[in-house]
Amino acid sequence: EFSRTKTIDEQRRFLPIYGCRQALLNVVRDNSVVVLVGETGSGKTTQIAQYLHEDGYTTFGVVGCTQPRRVAAMSVAKRVSEEVGVELGQEVGYSIRFEDVTSENTVIKFMTDGVLLRESLTEGDLDRYSAVIMDEAHERSLNTDVLFGILKKVVSRRMDMKLIVTSATMDATKFSEFFGNVPVFRIPGRTFPVDIIYAKQPCEDYVEAAVKQALQIHLSQPPGDILIFMTGQEDILCTCQVITERLLELGDKVPAILVLPVYSLLPSELQAKIFDKAEGGARKVIVATNIAETSLTVDGIFYVIDCGYCKFKVYNPRMGMDSLTIFPVSQAAANQRSGRAGRTGPGRCYRMYTDFAYKHELLVQSVPEIQRTNLGNVVLLLKSLGIDNLLTFDFMDPPPQDNLLNSMYQLWFLGALDNTGSLTPMGRKMVEFPLDPTLAKMLIFSEGLGCVDDVATVVSALSMPTIFYRPREREEESDACREKFFAPESDHLTLLNVYLQWKKNNYRSDWCTRHFIHAKSMKKVKEVRVQILDICKQLKMTVSTCGSDWDQVRKAICSAYFQNAGKMKSVGEYVNMRSGMPCHLHPSSALYGMGVQPEYIVYHELVMTSKEYMQCVTSVDPEWLAELGPMFFSVKQPGETRAEKRQKEREKKAMMEKDMA
Ligand code: ADP
Ligand code: MG
Repeated sequence: EFSRTKTIDEQRRFLPIYGCRQALLNVVRDNSVVVLVGETGSGKTTQIAQYLHEDGYTTFGVVGCTQPRRVAAMSVAKRVSEEVGVELGQEVGYSIRFEDVTSENTVIKFMTDGVLLRESLTEGDLDRYSAVIMDEAHERSLNTDVLFGILKKVVSRRMDMKLIVTSATMDATKFSEFFGNVPVFRIPGRTFPVDIIYAKQPCEDYVEAAVKQALQIHLSQPPGDILIFMTGQEDILCTCQVITERLLELGDKVPAILVLPVYSLLPSELQAKIFDKAEGGARKVIVATNIAETSLTVDGIFYVIDCGYCKFKVYNPRMGMDSLTIFPVSQAAANQRSGRAGRTGPGRCYRMYTDFAYKHELLVQSVPEIQRTNLGNVVLLLKSLGIDNLLTFDFMDPPPQDNLLNSMYQLWFLGALDNTGSLTPMGRKMVEFPLDPTLAKMLIFSEGLGCVDDVATVVSALSMPTIFYRPREREEESDACREKFFAPESDHLTLLNVYLQWKKNNYRSDWCTRHFIHAKSMKKVKEVRVQILDICKQLKMTVSTCGSDWDQVRKAICSAYFQNAGKMKSVGEYVNMRSGMPCHLHPSSALYGMGVQPEYIVYHELVMTSKEYMQCVTSVDPEWLAELGPMFFSVKQPGETRAEKRQKEREKKAMMEKDMA
């Protein structure tokens, strides 16, 4: 209602932060660093950059605002450009990896923290910025944590630079201490009480429990929109679908409802829908990841349903890799979630877990990303900034030493670090690519194999979450269609194949649609490819294609994934040759059910669902592995014991007998 009837100016003046605009600007003027705390929705993200702009900071530099999430950077930039009344990409713009929507006129720039971090590589003192707002600092994303250390140095060198660190929670004191006891500015809140209702018993299926709860609210509670927190895309789509189905079963007597998913991969125009009022007074049900915890604020939410879980990328030093895993939320996150119900009026939060679980099983605070992920990229960045001893870097919370050493070891194996831990020429090249070290390595290695052009396609396609479209109602049809693109020896080559076919068909969108391929993702792949090849050219790499000699591409792939090499154990099952951990072929892989299964493979990443599934697999020649990592891969099997040999013979015999039968 509010956003419809009030002008943008009136809306701006209604925000809690507006009441202390001048006081805030005064504190900023008198201090280099200020920590700003305010409830979600108080106007931090959308207003501060504008206030600084109005106060003259953009006359001598850009006001930059970092976001831990791409989605937030885009949607906030769009909103602020509307508030300022300019076209997005002009005075107000955004920059995220592989997508720069700014121009020479841009004075307010939203970006991911990763983008600013990379900028600090080329412009150590970030001279073009008059002010930097590190937004959503409480999320403690990996890049934010590294930026903390870097920006602390920058502000100590640059007296003319302002740094504002915003937080929606109570970490404020910690932030303030880190920067040398800087002032903490609190925006007076305007929130309503929220009733918390716990599950009586632990639930077995949180999707089912959340759906039931949503329907119960919809059918028996007064008006007010519902926000459901789920772990990720899959759960979200499932929840949306089941709610819709159940309502259809109930017939047309049920009041109107509008179910909207929000997750990072959802196209932005669909995401924007959550801000619109539902037509005809329907009740809105928003099903979101923890992006709605603090980064996106939707007004009109009276009910929150919290499934109690979230998805995290976690580094497992034993396996030497990241995996996406579902974890219980922390108490702090649970409280953020429930707070979403009390923005417009008194609300209710239904937790799909018990009171006991909240008190005794949830961590008080979430573990910062820097303490749980692979640090390959960070190590590479810091090394190239000339920080030799990483153990002495000014981390707010230092990463576990094991993770740090493991990541360094991994970089050493990729050839990025030498025996003394310094960057090699290869490492220096790798930093130039805004890619994971593995993918950067793949590209650089491909030069010697004469297939940079082909590998650039593979790498670009891998930077997309998926290019295949698999609608629920047409799963079989889409699977059959995808199989036509299969390169039987490799999922990576399958991606290359799709791209080449698309190219042959003049990059047409209708071709994509007909073949169950996301046209948008393919366009993005094409753009990313151009950017990657630009960097290759800047590095004076020879860009050529190996034509149909795809073994070269597989060799390049092999060179990057030395630590993700697997040896076949049984049908569909491999063991990681370094860690001995089991890893399974996913049914969607081109190698799955192909009859002859390759003995040696490498894979892109491991995803933990019901078991450890490998994503994107390529069969490799054991010789290549031996060349690349002799100490790990004694593929010639000299050490095989007699017992193992006998067992193998038996298995072979059994298999042959089965075949004959
Ligand atoms: P904070 O950063 O303190 O959480 P924000 O500045 O993000 O607060 O939000 C302030 C207000 O602006 C909220 O009430 C929110 O509903 C509104 N808002 C933010 N983004 C959009 C958008 N894209 N469309 C419409 N309203 C928005
Ligand atoms: Mg915000």
